[in-house]
Amino acid sequence: MKKIKVRPKTEQNIKRGYPLIKETDVVNKPTASASNQWVEFVGSKNNYLGTGYISPQNKGLGWVLSWTKEPLDLNFFKKKLTQAKDERSLFFHSEETTAFRVFNGEGDGIGGFTVDWYAGYLSISWYNEFIYQEKRTILDALQAVYPEAKGSYEKLRFQIEHEALSAHLSGGYAPEPLSIKENGVTYATYMNEGLMTGIFLDQKEVRERLTDGLLAGKSLLNTFSYTGAFSVAAALGGAVATTSVDLAKRSFEKTKEQLTINQLSMTNHSIVVMDVFNYFHYAQKKGLLFDCVLLDPPSFAKSKKHTFSVAKNYGELTAQAISLIAPNGLLIASTNAANVSKVKFQQMIEAAIQIHGRRFKQTEFFDLPADFVVNQAYPDGNYLKVFFYQLD
Ligand code: SAH
Repeated sequence: MKKIKVRPKTEQNIKRGYPLIKETDVVNKPTASASNQWVEFVGSKNNYLGTGYISPQNKGLGWVLSWTKEPLDLNFFKKKLTQAKDERSLFFHSEETTAFRVFNGEGDGIGGFTVDWYAGYLSISWYNEFIYQEKRTILDALQAVYPEAKGSYEKLRFQIEHEALSAHLSGGYAPEPLSIKENGVTYATYMNEGLMTGIFLDQKEVRERLTDGLLAGKSLLNTFSYTGAFSVAAALGGAVATTSVDLAKRSFEKTKEQLTINQLSMTNHSIVVMDVFNYFHYAQKKGLLFDCVLLDPPSFAKSKKHTFSVAKNYGELTAQAISLIAPNGLLIASTNAANVSKVKFQQMIEAAIQIHGRRFKQTEFFDLPADFVVNQAYPDGNYLKVFFYQLD
């Protein structure tokens, strides 16, 4: 096995269980021939630290999977998948929630792929080339651990030529739409429509809060609404009116479908296909106010007129949203941007509220839910940050 020497600080981190290898962690940049195969990470004295692989992905250069010299074979994958499944037995026994994450990459001990359960179907996401090469072994392990699965699909979340981003892998085909339940609410999902399925499972606790009645009798402006899942959750929790705003043309039909399967009427729940920034101008001109404005933009987005990134522009976005929040209203500010810390995110939001001179109280905070297991040695893996602010 090739050996990859890491820097002294990284040596300490690996010894503490840190699983991620970044470019700055290795002494020499690994050659192409050292990539995409199992390697041993060693310290300054060539001492063994752990086994894993080098294969660049969004989070870094590679992962440590084991701190012993155990073989990283079918049994290893089965063991990790089984542990992860056992930890989620509450989810598997729930009739109220039928879609959740069953394997969260490094959080469950193997960086590079995740597996979601959608009412009997598995959705596997590959995040780098090496783990994709190991697909056969991983599929065999999944087959052994999930004999009850009705079928499986894959999503390729790294650069690769000539391969579809989403594909059916094995077993039966899921109905279209595939209805899943989350805290008793039905959502329409699609197992094989590009990278997104219609619902982001990591927001289940925020949706649950809305379904529980946080906005009962209130109005909601749901921005970057995608399929309107937050609007549906709020409406079922008693919100009297919701407005879902998204730039993508598909969002109209998709949101309509989510409302319809939950017997919600389009008279009280409107869908606007528009750039959020244009909608803010429109709403300000019209003097519209909402009891709650929810912000959940992508980490980075480019539209005809705007380039938006959470790291640079969340403050501006919040400042514009605040002027649409009614007296005693609520701001829900969410991001999944891993490059923005919780503290920095909070500062951006609070500075923006202060521009308006409004008093505020931060009332709730959500990060990743229990099924999105986080590796304790790598807390940065907990990318989700959702703050609730009560305004005056
Ligand atoms: N909040 C959603 C997920 C948002 S995904 C949920 O919980 O389900 C991000 C969405 O932002 C995408 O649907 C994309 O079409 C939309 N989007 C990106 N830039 C936009 C813009 N400038 N105005 C409106 N929507 C935008």
